[in-house]
Amino acid sequence: MSGSTARLNAISAVTNYTPLSEPLNFSDTPMSEIFGSNVFSARVMKECLPKHIYKSLLKTIESGTKLDASVADVVAAAMRDWAIKKGATHYTHVFYPLTGLTAEKHDSFLAPDGRGGALAEFEGKALIQGEPDASSFPSGGIRATFEARGYTAWDVTSPAYILENPNGTTLCIPTAFVSWTGEALDKKTPLLRSNQALNEQAQRVLRIFGHKDGAVVSSTAGPEQEYFLIDRNFFFARPDLLTAGRTLFGAASPKGQEFEDQYFGVIPERVLAFMLEVERELYKLGVPVKTRHNEVAPAQYEIAPIFESSNIATDHQHLTMITMRRVAKQYGMECILHEKPFAGVNGSGKHVNYSLGSSSQGNLLDPGDTPHENAQFIVFCAAVIRAVHKHSGLLRAVVATAGNDHRLGANEAPPAIISIFLGDQLTDIFDQIKKGGAKSSKKRGTLQIGVDVLPELPKDAGDRNRTSPFAFTGNRFEFRAVGSNQSIAGALVAMNTIVAESLDYVATELEKATKGDPKKLNAAVQKLVKDIIASHGGVIFNGDGYTEAWHKEAAKRGLPNMKTTPEALLVLVAKDTVEVFKKYKVLSKRELESRRDIYLEQYVKSVLMEARLVIEMGRTIIFPAAIRYQNELATTCANLKVVGYMFDTDTLDLITELVKDLQDGMNALEKLLGHHSHGLLEEAQYCCGTLLPAMLKVRNAADSLEGYVADDLWPLPTYQEMLFIK
Ligand code: ADP
Ligand code: MG
Repeated sequence: MSGSTARLNAISAVTNYTPLSEPLNFSDTPMSEIFGSNVFSARVMKECLPKHIYKSLLKTIESGTKLDASVADVVAAAMRDWAIKKGATHYTHVFYPLTGLTAEKHDSFLAPDGRGGALAEFEGKALIQGEPDASSFPSGGIRATFEARGYTAWDVTSPAYILENPNGTTLCIPTAFVSWTGEALDKKTPLLRSNQALNEQAQRVLRIFGHKDGAVVSSTAGPEQEYFLIDRNFFFARPDLLTAGRTLFGAASPKGQEFEDQYFGVIPERVLAFMLEVERELYKLGVPVKTRHNEVAPAQYEIAPIFESSNIATDHQHLTMITMRRVAKQYGMECILHEKPFAGVNGSGKHVNYSLGSSSQGNLLDPGDTPHENAQFIVFCAAVIRAVHKHSGLLRAVVATAGNDHRLGANEAPPAIISIFLGDQLTDIFDQIKKGGAKSSKKRGTLQIGVDVLPELPKDAGDRNRTSPFAFTGNRFEFRAVGSNQSIAGALVAMNTIVAESLDYVATELEKATKGDPKKLNAAVQKLVKDIIASHGGVIFNGDGYTEAWHKEAAKRGLPNMKTTPEALLVLVAKDTVEVFKKYKVLSKRELESRRDIYLEQYVKSVLMEARLVIEMGRTIIFPAAIRYQNELATTCANLKVVGYMFDTDTLDLITELVKDLQDGMNALEKLLGHHSHGLLEEAQYCCGTLLPAMLKVRNAADSLEGYVADDLWPLPTYQEMLFIK
């Protein structure tokens, strides 16, 4: 399909748009009835399980005690009956391999009874453990292909749910995925392990502050998801979007995002219809989506849920991405989750709001109403600051992908330097603590920190900073560097682990200084926070993260600035990383090395694929269009000459030059593709340092041609069309 046909089809799709399904009447079916209707939730379990079984299961879910194996058969039977009542014919263990995608293998409930009939079968052992062939999932050398066994293990803490399809429904069971040696092959296993580590250390700190109930502390996450929606007619006419998820060619549209008329603008009808359906589908699955709005770039939007405990939030985030992709198709659109689908306008990220809390303590990063609570808040906050400073390289590493490199460190938020925005008021408080009870610059007078003297803290985040990769927003931190296409698990695992380590440090220091004497707590807290800010305050930066001045200043402060993935991924196996992950039993060295290799390989594969696409599209789509136009110009020149006019050949000259650039660029790129590197790292560096610039050269020639070639001859949908026809 040529660009111009795609344009006509898209225009017709937009103008003839009629709602696909019957509009849902929310007054007939109240939202409260839809929400969680496809979830095997605690409420459902309570209804259909014997009391003692329900209690035992709930204990496992809420306090992390080991699952009683005898419970599994009863739960499995109840789950099966519930699912079959909802039309399920199959069940699947859903898992999250290191590809970053969701994986599932479906099994039927059906078992022949040997007499020509069949029974519905689903036993405890099928619920607890599955054995998908793991050989095709990346393991980074952990599991040789011949020992293909991998196991999926039921994650009791994340509820099972029903996925609907017009032709039937499936019972989905969230699971962890491990090799037969017990090593993690997925994203969930380390997340569960890291939450456990976080809980252990947080409990120690809470005990020092007198909270001994032991209610499980878990990290919480509220991921804001940015995405693009474009008409599917365009999508199919762009091999780059179809295959790479981003445009490898395309001149800037005369209008971009400079009018700032898109952010929070009125949502187009077809897009809103899509959003409503996505939300309804997610409600059924118990995903608490809450916010929707237009984002900064044209055709860019955002969806955000209410935060949940990080493990469930992660599963729900995967479901959100899957649902958005699926529903968009029904509305004739494609949901694009790539971090930088269109050059020159903002890319998409996932802002992961992060905090920690428990059922009895609530949010531990929320400044409280009493000095006691505030001191505790300051201690937890200082622990996060220390963690981010000590491991800022790791936080860069866990968001390193080929796609995200086009965003981080380029000319948009957030920069590749990981720093913390605290806001003026909180920074002022930490400054004063650092000075140790100096006169307050603000009217508060002398500031002493302690469990009974700390003054009221700001309740409101007050000022906002959009350029910071890691911002305190009043009662949580917002990690903005995560890629729109990434699983949030990697970021959460890193956060949990490094915060656990900091809390360990904090607890140890406070235990040493107080020796259990609460009267010594004031002084101990004062000294601890002062020391932390003195050593780690360099990571705090409240200014504009885009400026050259900050880059210089950050270098002076010793903050790493890793612009590319190959560089950043090395931090995964750096000494500090290996130590902290080992100490808290989140990932072993071998598991970390396997992850580094898998991510390097993914990086290499995606750059190579893009390079091949550049050549294919350049040769078979753009070059032919350019020479057709060149021929038209040449014919015109020749004809005019015949009848005695001198025709200015400036445009023809330029086109000829650009065509040559295009051709040379592609030939050069093709040669470069023949290169053989030694080892993964070298190959990734080669992709980054040599192939990407060579691809850009081809693109530059092609994009210049786009500005000259006759519109009816230009075969690819343009940025203007893709971003503004909606
Ligand atoms: P903004 O765009 O201003 O950052 P949004 O409302 O779009 O705000 O998103 C804020 C996100 O932060 C929501 O998902 C919200 O649930 C989440 N959030 C709020 N409190 C916490 C918390 N304690 N832990 C984790 N996430 C939180
Ligand atoms: Mg936000």
